[in-house]
Amino acid sequence: MSASIVRDALVSTLRTWCLVLDGDLLGTPPADDGAGLADHLTNRVENIRHHVEGGAAVDEITAAVSAARDQVHGRDRAASTLAGLCPDCQSPVYGPHGVAQARCRANGCTGMVDVAAWRENALSRLTGATLPAVDVARVASVLTGERVTGDRVRQWAARGKLTAVNTGQCARPVYRVADVCALLGTPGHRTAS
Ligand SMILES: [Zn+2]
Repeated sequence: MSASIVRDALVSTLRTWCLVLDGDLLGTPPADDGAGLADHLTNRVENIRHHVEGGAAVDEITAAVSAARDQVHGRDRAASTLAGLCPDCQSPVYGPHGVAQARCRANGCTGMVDVAAWRENALSRLTGATLPAVDVARVASVLTGERVTGDRVRQWAARGKLTAVNTGQCARPVYRVADVCALLGTPGHRTAS
């Protein structure tokens, strides 16, 4: 698949879910490009959580992002993880596991991501977020660079290392992003109380 097809598929997926979540499939998209659409979705995490199609949205967007990442790095670069968003152009920047800084690869951009600072900032914004096991595992993996699965989250809960949050709304147990990141040993542990 060519890079432009993968990019178009990613933008199309983001555009569709913006419209679905706003309840008007025939409406005007909130932005023309992937970054603007991603911003729109990021500001609606709460809506996505409670939307009847929320799980499908997360699955489809995750698949489209993975395809884009494979296109950029090749499937063999499994060790490459999200380092953060470029401070200059907001493009996602990927780098080898454990790297301290990663340079943006967008055309003409010289932005540099400080990985630890970006993750700490993202974590502080997500610190109160609560998600089901599989979703909290995905978010924690991105924020810490450590791979964690939904099964491992459930094991921690079964062994008493992690406590599910009672929201009174969700039938499934949900967990704090900050608590899971703390168990993975990130600087965010101070906010996990
Ligand atoms: Zn950039």
